[in-house]
Amino acid sequence: MLLRSGKVITTTLPKTRTTNKSKCSYCNKSGHKINKCNHPMIKQLNNNVVERTIFSHMVIPYISVSKKYIRLYLCSLSELNLSMLCYYTNIKKYCIEDKKSSYINLLIEYYYQKLNQNLNTLTYMLSVISDENYEKYTNEILNNSVSLNLTFEVEEMILDYVYTYRPPQRKFNIQVVSSQQQSTTKTKTKTNECPICYETYSNAEIIRTGCSHNYCKDCLVSYFKSLNNSNTSPSCACCRKIIITLEIKNKKTRDEILDKYCNAQLLPPDQPIPPPAPQTETNVQQNTYGASSIFQRMIFNFVLF
Ligand SMILES: [Zn+2]
Ligand SMILES: [Zn+2]
Ligand SMILES: [Zn+2]
Repeated sequence: MLLRSGKVITTTLPKTRTTNKSKCSYCNKSGHKINKCNHPMIKQLNNNVVERTIFSHMVIPYISVSKKYIRLYLCSLSELNLSMLCYYTNIKKYCIEDKKSSYINLLIEYYYQKLNQNLNTLTYMLSVISDENYEKYTNEILNNSVSLNLTFEVEEMILDYVYTYRPPQRKFNIQVVSSQQQSTTKTKTKTNECPICYETYSNAEIIRTGCSHNYCKDCLVSYFKSLNNSNTSPSCACCRKIIITLEIKNKKTRDEILDKYCNAQLLPPDQPIPPPAPQTETNVQQNTYGASSIFQRMIFNFVLF
């Protein structure tokens, strides 16, 4: 304990604390204490706060408001979760009287400090936020606008920011068909290999291009996402033909791809299809270092630095 005079008083811990030394107060398992707990929820909690801190910092130009937003989220956590986060972020050394609000204040300061140390990588870091969370956070801010004291003008500005940093997903001139509509291609084997990830998939899972090449959904989606900032039309990785149709058997996948990435009906039907763009240096870079790996590194540095 540090007194105002500068003297340090060391206090001995009561003996009762040593009897129950190896039981974790977070997960209740014996063998470790809360500060060494590896429960997966802790990482998730930390990631959530990191994502929210980045988001609020990027989309709201007023730091006081963005702190309020993080505070709103932290307030929704239990005291146990908050204390776990304090241990995880190494800020448990402080003496805390009013636990919950002190935890919250300390955590806000901690995450903002880390954020400010990494401001130059912020735009990259922003992309670690999943599409779903990005949308969720935006809605949360707007729904909480009363408690955040946001005026209508500020709300508008936030929406402006949101779409500047994360423009809506580009939609491509691709027609999606179910397997019944396009049964001209017959498959001999029951499993198909995706030429991008080399995993094998069943006929029900695979997505077939009009040029009869098969891809898995994850690879195709990340390819579509990688094209968001270019005006290149998506082309087949095997034969380089522009993708104009996709045959998708699974209804849920079909609806998702159609809804998020395809916009065939908006273009006039007789518009000539542009030739595939040559592979430029930026394209190569995008392909070599997958966006996610850069962002994972960024977030890794941000969290652990
Ligand atoms: Zn534990
Ligand atoms: Zn794949
Ligand atoms: Zn092809």
